[in-house]
Amino acid sequence: MPTKSKSPKAKKPSSKSVKYVYSFGNGKADGNGKMKSLLGGKGANLAEMTRIRLPVPSGFTISTEVCTYFYDHNRTYPPALEKQIDEAIHKLEASMGKKFGDATNPLLVAVRSGARDSMPGMMDTILNLGLNDRTVRALAERSRNERFAYDCYRRFLQMYGDVVMGVQKRTGEEHEPFEVVIEELKKELFPNDPHVSDTKLDATALRTLTDRFRKLIRERTGKDFPEDPREQLRGAVGAVFGSWNNERAIIYRRKYNIPHEWGTAVNVQAMVFGNTGNDSGSGVSFTRDPATGEKVLYGEFLLNAQGEDVVAGVRTPEPVLQLKVEMPEVYRQLQDVRHTLESHFHDMQDFEFTVEQGRLFMLQTRNGKRTGFAAVRIAVEMVKEKLIKPDDAVRRIPADSLSQLLAPVFDSNARKTTQVIARGLPAGPGAASGKIYFSANEAESAAQRGEKVLLVRIETSPEDIRGMLAAEGILTARGGVSSHAALVARQMGKVCVCGASELQIDYSTNSLHVRGQNFRKGDYLSIDGTTGEIFPGEVKTSPSDIVRVLIDKDLTPAESPIYRVFAQLMQWADQRRKLEVRANADQPDQVGHAVAFGAQGVGLCRTEHMFFEGDRIDHVREMILAENADERGKALAKLLPAQRSDFAGIFKALKGLPATIRFLDPPLHEFIPHDEASQRDLAEKLGISADRVARRVKELHEFNPMLGHRGCRLGIVYPEISEMQARAVFEAAAEVQASGIKVRPEIMIPLVGFPKELELQIALVHQVAQKVQKERNIKLSYLVGTMIEIPRACVVADEIAKSAQFFSFGTNDLTQTTLGMSRDDAGSFLPRYQEEEIVRQNPFAVLDQGGVGKLMETAVKLGRSTRKDIKLGICGEHGGEPDSVKFCHRLGLAYVSCSPFRLPVARLAAAQAALKE
Ligand code: PEP
Ligand code: MG
Repeated sequence: MPTKSKSPKAKKPSSKSVKYVYSFGNGKADGNGKMKSLLGGKGANLAEMTRIRLPVPSGFTISTEVCTYFYDHNRTYPPALEKQIDEAIHKLEASMGKKFGDATNPLLVAVRSGARDSMPGMMDTILNLGLNDRTVRALAERSRNERFAYDCYRRFLQMYGDVVMGVQKRTGEEHEPFEVVIEELKKELFPNDPHVSDTKLDATALRTLTDRFRKLIRERTGKDFPEDPREQLRGAVGAVFGSWNNERAIIYRRKYNIPHEWGTAVNVQAMVFGNTGNDSGSGVSFTRDPATGEKVLYGEFLLNAQGEDVVAGVRTPEPVLQLKVEMPEVYRQLQDVRHTLESHFHDMQDFEFTVEQGRLFMLQTRNGKRTGFAAVRIAVEMVKEKLIKPDDAVRRIPADSLSQLLAPVFDSNARKTTQVIARGLPAGPGAASGKIYFSANEAESAAQRGEKVLLVRIETSPEDIRGMLAAEGILTARGGVSSHAALVARQMGKVCVCGASELQIDYSTNSLHVRGQNFRKGDYLSIDGTTGEIFPGEVKTSPSDIVRVLIDKDLTPAESPIYRVFAQLMQWADQRRKLEVRANADQPDQVGHAVAFGAQGVGLCRTEHMFFEGDRIDHVREMILAENADERGKALAKLLPAQRSDFAGIFKALKGLPATIRFLDPPLHEFIPHDEASQRDLAEKLGISADRVARRVKELHEFNPMLGHRGCRLGIVYPEISEMQARAVFEAAAEVQASGIKVRPEIMIPLVGFPKELELQIALVHQVAQKVQKERNIKLSYLVGTMIEIPRACVVADEIAKSAQFFSFGTNDLTQTTLGMSRDDAGSFLPRYQEEEIVRQNPFAVLDQGGVGKLMETAVKLGRSTRKDIKLGICGEHGGEPDSVKFCHRLGLAYVSCSPFRLPVARLAAAQAALKE
């Protein structure tokens, strides 16, 4: 079920003419912003920023084709590459006036990954490359800062040793080996100060450290750290390509559906230093607020630091607005950059910059990740600012992100009575409550046990991604709003609070201490990712603005800016889409909600769900347990008025919109009381013996209830059940129509595989319709059709269409029966199937277009061959999933039907599908 196109195959590697290396610098670039598949997102945009004359340090990009070649050829490179890299280095040296390995003015570079779609923090980066025992002295002299030079050198050794030479924690070791060496040296130098900070290490100490680091590398690898910058570069480039296939990158690609074939590019760029003193620093900013979408320069900045320090989340940075005071000229330039970027890229940008001794350099820009709230607000406001067109706004908002706008927030009353125990930075909006776990693994297992989980970490690293996926929310003690944890959380739509520095988290005791209170693993906490507040215990949640305006009606559009931008977007989407949207709704109040969310009718009313309430379930049980037609008749007589009044309620709520009412399809195991106590209880209510109930339950037992006596099979064996339902529908229709409201019932027969099943049921429906129309002296118009949810129905759809006036694809059962995977049980093995990439996504959530989709295509074709204008829709869960909605558009269905809260998502996805034509 791929949704992203694969990259074209790498060109013939032996061809000397293939260009693998693209230089940029001094206002000129070989590449440009459109070349993302070849240069990766970072490389393409570095070229583009260079072209529009933003201050970008010179460098070059090694293309993704080299990565593809690397993996296709046993980790080797195309023969033409070395020469092209040499040329690019010469160009870079000329542009910077520096030379690789030079003893007086050495060129130092950063080596960074950069895939087509950004994968924040998932792959490796190496900074300060080019340093060795000789060049470090030159750096010390030129910067007149020996401490700085040795600090750069020890960072480089540490990164290179770890990433390229593999000096990492071994099993059984608790700490990173380089960190151990640092701690040992600190202990020697400051025996009385166990918490001394790294900044206390002077130049001499740092030099000692570099000696010890090199010794460590030799001991661990049996090899010397390479002094030659060319060799360093070769190693670094290989490591970055290698990191495309590390575990976390693979997990990330799987989650975001990024094809493994894409590969990464490698960017080699002249170093600029943000850590040369207090007139330097590094920052990450957004051209608008990525959480709310507000049009302000937003982001953070660390004085005297390298960029990695900001995104790693180890030190908590200050807001970028603070630069207005600290470096007013840089701040003014940043505001200019912000406007240049937005008017050039026509989207909100997330950019990295470094200030070296008062001079601003741009290191990266990309379309910024944002919350659903921000996505909608930014797109709508950019249309108003004439930066983009309404079509662009509709196209660019990931349809799924709208579900965030409908997500609950903490109930304001519950929140007033709960004391805030601490605050952090609001990094991913929404309200989340859950049991706290301190490791990704434990969070994942707890979630698998069905618990609601909050993942609590001192700081998160990309390794935590599994735990983040499993958690309702993420809480960290350190790190800023642009730390990887925050970026990834926002993109997943997870609630996230980070940098809550008051939290004292102790992994060894699995506990968290804050302002005199202790919380242990498994205790409840609640976090608000919109305000950054943290609460003890489980706090009640309440509906979002959109729900309050549309459903609860206790908020007006005038009072809610987010509602207004949402409504504007929905209007644009509705003007563009061709698919209609309907709702799966079973009760009058649900139907009301659905209409408020834009439903153009009910696509599936599961009548068995109407019986879950009150004593109705007992009447259904009485009907199921009945031993003869007489007994069944009595039970049905009790059900009839309840159904009739529900149907009437639904028709009224629909005010003339169509309602597809499906006849009973109760998988028996969901309705029968299984344990002794409830059987006794039911027996008492029905006035029969408990033994009789138990015996009947035994008789009705099915090994495979999903494939058992359900769907139309029930109405075939007990026609009186379908008769009662038809009567309830038509009597309700007559009643509502008589009151002046138009009604459009569409009766739908489930689980049909044989044309005769449908014919029998339809005949019965027409009979009842005639009777009721006569009795009530009224003319009703209605349709009768079928669900298509059995493979046989797809392949004999031409015969079925002779009697069916419409088809509605029940893709839940169609997936279950096509794949031969029980929808109740597939959860136990599907995760492994996804890991093995047997299936890319869960086929019960995202339609299996290659299999189930083919059957749907067949059914559409055959159905139309018999009845040209047959009405076609879908009502399985896939009807609210964006990729599946787009598939339904391409199939030419008339509508998709989904749960009310998914309707905005379906409306937007349908518009996006229409715009793609
Ligand atoms: C389906 O099978 O897709 C469907 C909508 O019906 P149900 O989920 O009730 O079986
Ligand atoms: Mg079904």
